[in-house]
Amino acid sequence: MDSKAFREWGKTVIDYIADYNDNIRDRPVLSTVKPGYLYELIPSEAPVKGEDWKTVMADLDNKIMPGITHWNSPQFHAFFPTGNSYPAIMGDMLCNAIGSIGFSWMTSPACTELEVQVMNWFGKILDLPKEFLNESKGPGGGVIQGSASEATFVCLLAAKDRTTKRIKALHPEMTDGEIKAKLVAYTSDQSNSSVEKAGLLGSMPMRMLKADKSGRMTGFILSEAIAEDVARGLIPCYVVATLGTTGICAFDNLEELGPICNENKIWLHVDAAYAGAAFVLPEYRYLMAGVQFADSFDVNLHKWLLVNFDCSALWVKNSTYLVDAFNVERVYLKHSYQSQDPQVPDYRHWQIPLGRRFRSLKMWFVLRIYGVEGLQAHIKKQVHLADMFGKFVNQDPRFEVTTVAMGLVCFRLKGDNALTKNLYERLMASGQIYLVTATVQKRLVIRFVVCSRLTEEIDVQFAWNEIRTQADRVKSERD
Ligand code: PLP
Repeated sequence: MDSKAFREWGKTVIDYIADYNDNIRDRPVLSTVKPGYLYELIPSEAPVKGEDWKTVMADLDNKIMPGITHWNSPQFHAFFPTGNSYPAIMGDMLCNAIGSIGFSWMTSPACTELEVQVMNWFGKILDLPKEFLNESKGPGGGVIQGSASEATFVCLLAAKDRTTKRIKALHPEMTDGEIKAKLVAYTSDQSNSSVEKAGLLGSMPMRMLKADKSGRMTGFILSEAIAEDVARGLIPCYVVATLGTTGICAFDNLEELGPICNENKIWLHVDAAYAGAAFVLPEYRYLMAGVQFADSFDVNLHKWLLVNFDCSALWVKNSTYLVDAFNVERVYLKHSYQSQDPQVPDYRHWQIPLGRRFRSLKMWFVLRIYGVEGLQAHIKKQVHLADMFGKFVNQDPRFEVTTVAMGLVCFRLKGDNALTKNLYERLMASGQIYLVTATVQKRLVIRFVVCSRLTEEIDVQFAWNEIRTQADRVKSERD
């Protein structure tokens, strides 16, 4: 394909994207296709002769779009938001065009230095302790990971390496294998599935501690578990605290957990994948009190901060633990500006893969085009819409609201779980809005999250009308 055809196709695609967003309300949020639908529409062999882009675009419309769940639809209220905005799309397009694989400073200085700088910008926007910033005098710094899951896993591996070396220095008679077999990690049973997975991948038992009634992991819960394990000869190594749990957006108590971790030399990782975005607003920062005790802190810009997947901001207080854990040298990777200085990092040592995309470009575009005020306005608006939904539910005596936290509202039909289950199944079968459920203290709740940046008050009203209609049917079935 030459640049002439690229220009023509490119302009068509830009129009397609703008039309897609402008008219997204006309598309049902949930696809109605059945498993295997696409295998009948797409041939089982690749074409031998290249095809015309117009034919391919027509197939996108006819064959692919019917099987899409529209994550940016204003009727999408499942999971958490998935970031999306025009500046981020521009950034990703240019990232693809430039195509640099900036794993070391030398392989693309701008790729590394822009990342250092935007991570400093964003860390300051959230008012993180300065030890986390690359510009601090110490070894702290920020890096963009592909996902919060990767961030949790990377920090687990760094914690494992740090603890193994510490115990080895105290007990030279122990082998690395013996030490690693005794390491143990902790999180609450409300943490995201990716935390348990990090334990599986990192071969470290991850204890899923039962959260309190409000869904929080407290100091008492953690210290009891640590005492039990120490008595059994195990070595506590890693704690993942969540600020904004996936189920009900609960906040673990960092002010209690932090000192316990610090005293026991346990790495404290804070997973603020969703709710961390709200800390762009000073009024929410009380929820991260105790962050100064953490070793690492992660927020997904690709959730609530308008940056398209993938962009997960991870800060560590001491990047040398990452570099020490992941440093594998080869002659072909060396360059003349190599250093341990977090201002000139070779980011390959801060992550799992070698190659990396120029993700800071989209983050830079979003931060510049929206500005801090634009991001704050976005979060405020979505919280307002969630509050509005919570008020609708509260006014209907058939329902109870169990949680209103930031952009999330959890609700249920009063009575046994079967009623809420029936309502949820009806909502999914009708397919007008997309929601998911959670369980809190054995009670089934439906989660309503304001996900799309395109959601407006009329969409919240639409969702509530649909829920009420289906609730009427549940009720008439019971009567
Ligand atoms: N942590 C929390 C609290 C989450 O809610 C999620 C996803 O919803 C994740 C981690 C996983 O995020 P990612 O898809 O970026 O790995």
